[in-house]
Amino acid sequence: MYELVDQSWVNQPKVMQVDVIDKFVMNLGSYLKVNQLNDFVVVLHGGEPLLAGMDAVEYLLKKLKKMSHDLSVRIVTTLQTNGILLNGKWISLFKKYSVLVGISHDGPAEINDLNRVTHNGQGTENTVTEKLKLIRESAPEIFTGVLTVINPKGNGADVVDFFYNLDVPKIDFLFPDQNYVLSPSQYPSAFLESSLYSNFLLAAYERWREIDDPNFDIRLFRELILAVMGTSPTLDSLGVTDVGIFVIETDGGLEPIDTFKCCGEDFTKLGLNICSNTLFDLQENDLIKTFVQKSSSLSNECHNCEYLKMCGGGYMPHRFNGKDFNNPSVYCGSLYQLCETVHSDISEAITYAKNKLNNG
Ligand code: SF4
Repeated sequence: MYELVDQSWVNQPKVMQVDVIDKFVMNLGSYLKVNQLNDFVVVLHGGEPLLAGMDAVEYLLKKLKKMSHDLSVRIVTTLQTNGILLNGKWISLFKKYSVLVGISHDGPAEINDLNRVTHNGQGTENTVTEKLKLIRESAPEIFTGVLTVINPKGNGADVVDFFYNLDVPKIDFLFPDQNYVLSPSQYPSAFLESSLYSNFLLAAYERWREIDDPNFDIRLFRELILAVMGTSPTLDSLGVTDVGIFVIETDGGLEPIDTFKCCGEDFTKLGLNICSNTLFDLQENDLIKTFVQKSSSLSNECHNCEYLKMCGGGYMPHRFNGKDFNNPSVYCGSLYQLCETVHSDISEAITYAKNKLNNG
């Protein structure tokens, strides 16, 4: 997020203050009550949420727990961390409040350390892998797995093997955030070098299918397989289901999901703040409505695409052309190839299984 075109974070507080946390929890409580919602997920994301410090994080967790108890609603809290600051104390805190923890890690050192470095430019793979082992061994019940940003300078099969050998139960691949007007210098252009991303993903898929271990999940592939079987993906980055995610910045700003920051400076600024607005104001905001209704801005190519139900036109921020989102994803080439491969693989497997059943 800090390396995307939007640099508005520079003027924001580094850590969310207590009055913003209080307003958020109060607002959320009213929202859940009026909408008679029984479940809600709060994700502590960054940047790096552990930089907020244990006191600030525990304050929020306590507040959420109390609200959840008072209203008899289920609040699931998850946290995504780069793992650098993770230690036994943090893990105890997360266990105490049942916080589910995911680690951000891009794989073997030669891949991970291209972009995940300290302020001194040192690669972090070694440290993060140690932290990953720490949580996997000491608190497997709260460890949800790894988020990995695809870097096609590496090989997808190697990345899959790397995490499988570390006994990680679940990984997910994320495309680097780019679109038709903006692409980060650290990654190959999705538009000009689409085959690099396809090669990475197809190698990863093939390796995962070879491993064939039901205890090793890759969310992107699993969601595509389920889509072949008729279940719509529910991810914000896949399928045509609306996105029910919003972000609260440290200053209380209410915004759409932060990946839209790759569309331009101040792109996510709506002029709404949790201290002076409600979550109902957010829900009624026209821009938010556009951002959450993925299927309302599909291109003709996507409408006519045989894999629309699997792909959904790609992630909205990746469809942006400087004016609108009515375009196929800038990753269309790779998504198409991946959907085609998964579709034919799974259709074949289903036919094989049916024939076997019919023949006793
Ligand atoms: S594969 Fe391409 S054309 Fe097909 S739905 Fe996805 S983005 Fe649209």
